[in-house]
Amino acid sequence: MTRIAIIGGGISGLAAAFALEEHRRAGVEVNYTLYESAPRLGGVLRTEHIDGCLVEAGPDSFITEKPWATDLCRSLGLGDELIGSSDADRKTYILTRGRLVEMPDGLMFMVPTKIMPTVLSPLFSWKTKLRMAKELFLPRNHGPDESVASFVERHYGREMVDRLADPLLSGIYGGEAANLSLRAVLPRFHDMEDSHGSLGRAMLAARRKVSAGPKKPAIPIFTTLKNGMQHLAETLVSRLTGTLLTNAPVQALQPQAGDWLVSAGMHSDCFDAVIVALPAPVAAQILRPTGPELSGELAAVQYGSSITVGLGYDRDVRQSLPPGFGFLVPRSEGKRLLAATFVHNKFPHRAPEDRALLRCFFAGGNAENIWHLSDDEIVGIVRTELQQILGLRSAPLFARVYKWKSAMAQYGVGHLDRLDRIERLCQQLPGLALAGNAYRGIGVPDCIRSGRDAAAQVAKM
Ligand SMILES: Cc1cc2nc3c(=O)[nH]c(=O)nc-3n(C[C@H](O)[C@H](O)[C@H](O)COP(=O)(O)OP(=O)(O)OC[C@H]3O[C@@H](n4cnc5c(N)ncnc54)[C@H](O)[C@@H]3O)c2cc1C
Repeated sequence: MTRIAIIGGGISGLAAAFALEEHRRAGVEVNYTLYESAPRLGGVLRTEHIDGCLVEAGPDSFITEKPWATDLCRSLGLGDELIGSSDADRKTYILTRGRLVEMPDGLMFMVPTKIMPTVLSPLFSWKTKLRMAKELFLPRNHGPDESVASFVERHYGREMVDRLADPLLSGIYGGEAANLSLRAVLPRFHDMEDSHGSLGRAMLAARRKVSAGPKKPAIPIFTTLKNGMQHLAETLVSRLTGTLLTNAPVQALQPQAGDWLVSAGMHSDCFDAVIVALPAPVAAQILRPTGPELSGELAAVQYGSSITVGLGYDRDVRQSLPPGFGFLVPRSEGKRLLAATFVHNKFPHRAPEDRALLRCFFAGGNAENIWHLSDDEIVGIVRTELQQILGLRSAPLFARVYKWKSAMAQYGVGHLDRLDRIERLCQQLPGLALAGNAYRGIGVPDCIRSGRDAAAQVAKM
């Protein structure tokens, strides 16, 4: 019987446990113990039901195109509970000189694929529009890794970084485009430059290829669960037959005579293999005595903090809000809010028809700067900025603040080289596998894939 320890009970650790459970059911002789430091499992997947609304404290959905989350939901029998975003009503606004300006139709991240909507949009100056036209003539380029900001600036200029690239990426990674690696965060854009030079030309070529092929049914951009993301964690837990320990922070991890000794509190146990599904800085700490070099590489993966605020309003507010999914706030606008989602439009099941549900988001330095404030003070900041941006003066029916300290990995320039070094160093420690959002994708689907891959690696032993 192979004994495996999983350290960390977020979605990465739970996905690893479920994959081991499947191996076990298929006849592989394996058992597992999962250690989680918190009193509950699920990590940042947390959902509350308030006043008829479904409020997500952490992730609210996942990208449909990445199949691992949808596949997992289906294997768990949650296929009927999957719901897609209401893309017909999709509109995103960017706060531009104090006014909400709709993102022009046909903009794929920052690449215009339709001329007229972009030309007529007040989002960009004429200088940037001219850069977009000139971009079509850029030659191929095979440069080393660089920051997303420098890549976007080379193609479209500084304004595009400020208005789009930075707020879009901050919403996902909680960090700044100036600090994020192009190759790790936007590999497709790196490849497009490699093959075509111009991103505009690459995008048009890809669209021509798609329209020449057989028509595929449109899939929603985001998928989620009717009963919220926490339901995914709870369903996973209900299918696990291994030992699940909560309030069990692991302090040390040591190889010992071909085994791994896991120490949590007063207890130590031996395992044949261990899956470390922790944020990289915590993994670095517990691996320091065993693999100082590996620990150093893990500690170098930066993490950012974020704060989400869920607010419920009445029917009058719902009718007064603009249509669409919400808005993003570029740093240059001088606000603390980074983004707000109109949840009642994006996922209509999540709020009754007579309620508006807003999810506001602070990230990076702006989250750190207000961290010490009370929930009431944070709600006060949100209300002031919503009044400035939307003219929203009404008091919310409810407001909830959720703080996530160092929960979002930031893939810095050179991240993929660091991953190569981490993988090489792990090979020197047989029986050790890593999973989590520090490596090859921060989103829920990538974390699930990382957990499954780690389980496959140790189950082969
Ligand atoms: C506010 C927010 C919004 C997000 N929105 C989205 C979204 O909409 N879509 C999307 O796809 N992704 C989103 N993400 C990203 C995604 O949710 C996370 O990257 C992913 O859930 C991380 O899962 P994880 O299991 O790797 O880490 P975590 O969820 O952080 O789990 C790690 C676990 O390890 C435990 N732990 C820590 N130290 C120890 C120890 N010493 N011993 C034992 N256990 C320990 C922790 O308590 C925690 O439960 C969001 C993230 C945040 C924070």
